[in-house]
Amino acid sequence: MEIVHISAECYPVAKAGGLADVVGALPRFQKELGHVTKVIMPMYRTDFLYKNEWQVVHKASASLGHSWFDFTVIKEVSNKLDFELYLLDINGLLDREKIYGYDDDTERFCAFQIAVLSWMNTWNLLPNVIHVHDHHTALIPFMVKYCYGFGRLSGIPTVLTIHNAEYQGSFGWNKTNYIPQWDSWKRGMLEWNGNINPLASGVKCAWKVTTVSNTYLNEMRFKSNGMEPVFEYEKGKCSGIINGIDYGVWDPENDKYLNDHYNVHSIERGKGKSKKILCETFGLSYDKPLFVFIGRLVGEKAADLLPQVINDCFRFIGRKMNFLILGSGNSNIEAKLIDLKKISQGDYNVYVGYNEKLSHLMYAGADFLLMPSRVEPCGLNQMYAMRYGTIPLVRRTGGLIDTVIDIGNQDGYGITFNEASVGDISNAIYRALDLYSQKDLFRILQKKAMSLDFSWHNSAKQYLDLYQNLQ
Ligand code: ADP
Repeated sequence: MEIVHISAECYPVAKAGGLADVVGALPRFQKELGHVTKVIMPMYRTDFLYKNEWQVVHKASASLGHSWFDFTVIKEVSNKLDFELYLLDINGLLDREKIYGYDDDTERFCAFQIAVLSWMNTWNLLPNVIHVHDHHTALIPFMVKYCYGFGRLSGIPTVLTIHNAEYQGSFGWNKTNYIPQWDSWKRGMLEWNGNINPLASGVKCAWKVTTVSNTYLNEMRFKSNGMEPVFEYEKGKCSGIINGIDYGVWDPENDKYLNDHYNVHSIERGKGKSKKILCETFGLSYDKPLFVFIGRLVGEKAADLLPQVINDCFRFIGRKMNFLILGSGNSNIEAKLIDLKKISQGDYNVYVGYNEKLSHLMYAGADFLLMPSRVEPCGLNQMYAMRYGTIPLVRRTGGLIDTVIDIGNQDGYGITFNEASVGDISNAIYRALDLYSQKDLFRILQKKAMSLDFSWHNSAKQYLDLYQNLQ
């Protein structure tokens, strides 16, 4: 079977969050199961682009509304990622430093999707499945089905995976000519809440829709930023497949970002060395338990609550722990977290920015990972943390429910709480301190967490079963 993944992100080419980790891993595991997998993504100006060799495989033009644009497709020559990787360049539109966050993101991703399909239209052999990810590529199922120019592709099954339904990419009907000539009777397949809504369109038009955990799949029918009725109506074609984690990248025994490797038999030494580096670098106290937060500093992750949680813990529980935060996002939250450094007594610090190497060191060196998310479709951080023997403190939502069992249960290995509130998070920290004081139990739970199997093998098979039932 030949599977083409089309995505805005793919690790290690360009990453903003979990989408990249999934698209960088799933195709490789599908290939291991004997299938041909390709990834097509925009060409941004990233290190990966400059550090690798590329070959031009296609050059053509297409139009976005009334504007013509030229595009070029390049292929990574050495198959470094194990699957075929293609980058699509549209001069001036895609070749930028960042992946998202520009005023013309609608134009950028519409043009990208049109160019991808224009190129695929020229292939002699068409793929068996087109698998698109999130709203940036979710107009493709509509375009394949209803745009006259792509009629040759219309028989190819499309699958949409939703990594986060909060972002839908809506734009106004004044931009309707961004979609290449289409069957105007199908207007309803683009429309949601008065706009062209790419994610809603993808759910309506894709042959199958998946999301990244079963609990999130259910939650979307009740809470998905206005799209609830779409998920209710289309529930018959939706399913949940939990993400795996890539042990080639995320394994304390071989992690290329760590100097001190360890496994389940050498946790104390291995984690201790990474913790020491973190404490020296960030001026923290080695003897106290280290709580970390890694992620986007946005309301979805409940990062806005962190300053008060940290303040309250120091005031009401005492200076018994360290906090270290890594993240970027909302400037208000960033400013508050930076301001909080004033109260540190060698027990708090923050790194504002994106830093892959530091994130690995933190998963390794921390004792606990905080994940109070308001919304968490799957969540990868908690799975990475557990692999590194770091106990997660998670809010009971989405994929966090599916992957973390509370230590109050016989087979538990994490700490869970109900509300994204200062009280619930602080209470979870209190429980974590109690656990940390019981050294033997803490070590047993670390070992248990490290031994859990979150590998991609199972999930990759589930995607293949889904493709096989598409006809
Ligand atoms: P989301 O995709 O919603 O941001 P996920 O839990 O699915 O959340 O994935 C987050 C990924 O991004 C993890 O690999 C995490 O380590 C990484 N990450 C998030 N913020 C940062 C940061 N500031 N620096 C390094 N890695 C980060």
